[in-house]
Amino acid sequence: MFQLTLQAAVLGLTTILSVTVAVAAWQRRSNSPASTPFIQMMLAIAGYSLAAALEASAIELSDKIIWSKLEYVGSGSVITLFLVFAAQFTHSKRWLTPRTIALLWLLPLGNVGLVATNERHQLIWSDFLPGPSSNLVIYQHGPGFFWVMVCTYTYTLAGSLLLVKAALRSSILYRQQSKLALAGALVPLLGGSAYVLKLSPPGLNITPMSFLLTGLIFFASLFRFRLFDLVPVARDSLIERMSDGVLVLDVRNRIIDLNPAAHRLIGASASCIGRSIDQVFTQWHDFAKSLQEDVEAEIWLDSMPPLFVELRMTTLHDRRRRLTGRLLILRDITQRHQAETALRQANEHLQSQLLEIEALQSQLQEQAIRDGLTNLFNRRYFEETLPRELARAAREGYSVAVIFMDIDYFKRINDTFGHQAGDRVLQAFAALLRSQCRSSDIPCRYGGEEFVLALPDVTLKCAHDRAEQIRLAFQAVQVRFGETQIDATVSGGVGIFPDHGETSSDLLRAIDRALYAAKADGRNCVKQAGQPL
Ligand code: GH3
Ligand code: MG
Ligand code: MG
Repeated sequence: MFQLTLQAAVLGLTTILSVTVAVAAWQRRSNSPASTPFIQMMLAIAGYSLAAALEASAIELSDKIIWSKLEYVGSGSVITLFLVFAAQFTHSKRWLTPRTIALLWLLPLGNVGLVATNERHQLIWSDFLPGPSSNLVIYQHGPGFFWVMVCTYTYTLAGSLLLVKAALRSSILYRQQSKLALAGALVPLLGGSAYVLKLSPPGLNITPMSFLLTGLIFFASLFRFRLFDLVPVARDSLIERMSDGVLVLDVRNRIIDLNPAAHRLIGASASCIGRSIDQVFTQWHDFAKSLQEDVEAEIWLDSMPPLFVELRMTTLHDRRRRLTGRLLILRDITQRHQAETALRQANEHLQSQLLEIEALQSQLQEQAIRDGLTNLFNRRYFEETLPRELARAAREGYSVAVIFMDIDYFKRINDTFGHQAGDRVLQAFAALLRSQCRSSDIPCRYGGEEFVLALPDVTLKCAHDRAEQIRLAFQAVQVRFGETQIDATVSGGVGIFPDHGETSSDLLRAIDRALYAAKADGRNCVKQAGQPL
């Protein structure tokens, strides 16, 4: 016989909620070892609260006692699974062997045996009194009950302590999660205390509800932060094994967390947690100026050997945008930096070589068109340039005058004063020719002691006058060679395009004839092409 009471309804609701959380957690279960005991605990809460609901609604005292006994099965399972869950969740794996888990189950099992055989010893319940309202029984407890309470509290306290310890140990990297873990741990303690201190409604055991609340809190964390997954992965696998150094500072720049890579990079000892960053990391002041912003810098660390690291600092804020700390990430980029430097140096070397090659090339080009002795243009250059000049003059309708000049009796100079003296005479004439030239003129050494000068856009008369000028100037020159002074003269032939030839070869032939005429006329004179010999 059952009668639905408010207590029974509340406990029934607890059952439904616990099953729902268990199912949802099962659907979202992860590889975390905390996942299974969590689901089992939620199911145990469901069983516990169901037994409590049935106890509350049963009318017969004998029925009530049976359900009460089953409640002990539920509560014993809940506390044991809570402890196993807390141990798994906080990675207290050291003592969590199948043997210790089996031992953990022994105490609740013994207690269930004690409750089951209460009729014989009345250690748990000594008497049953009618409660203030109908269908409510006040259980009179014997010393066995207090023993069960001691067991229950020891288990719950142990589990809660594990969670509290983990919450305090954790850094702001997962402070939110820790807060929730802490809340989850405290709820069953408070709930249990309220029941024992008789602060909860009479006859209503709120222990299953408090465990349900714990379950809900952890379940919310599971949703929000993927608690079972993220914390172990982020902390143990990812951050711990990262090759990048990760440092977490609080608002006052004290180190609250750092991974092994950060230890190695900044050469800090393991005891640096809690110490100010500038005590541990001497170069901190260099970027302390830009503390408010997120910075990225590449710096040398004074380590042995020196390391080049990329440093990224990110400020951490809570939801109300208040500064909660800073995250420093240090990446060793020494090798990359060395490779870059080597590449840059190779590039610079290549660049300078390229410039040198370019300079040599232009020097070579220059040499290819210059005569080595006089530095005037050479015959090859002249023969390439004159046809171009003539073509342009034809296009634009102007004339080009050409003067041929040949030093008189040059062989005799060589024979008398030597070849070097001859060279000096050639250089002296070249210098004179250059000094008599305008920027548009093209002076060349045509070969041996023959020179040619092209004068674009100049009349024949003007060219003749220029040739005369040069001849007279050279006549006046006394070439010094050691102690001796050498006098030399030059003969010239002048002609003009297009009058004396429409191609460069015709023109040069005509002028060469004029030069020959000058030689024939006794030398040291200038003749025009096209004039009778
Ligand atoms: P002409 O008055 O008829 O021109 O008589 P020339 O002696 O000046 O003419 P020729 O062609 O007989 O002699 C030219 C000489 O110039 C012959 C050659 O040895 C000399 N010669 C050619 N190139 C050079 C040179 O670079 N240096 C020197 N020192 N002599 C050279
Ligand atoms: Mg000559
Ligand atoms: Mg000659």
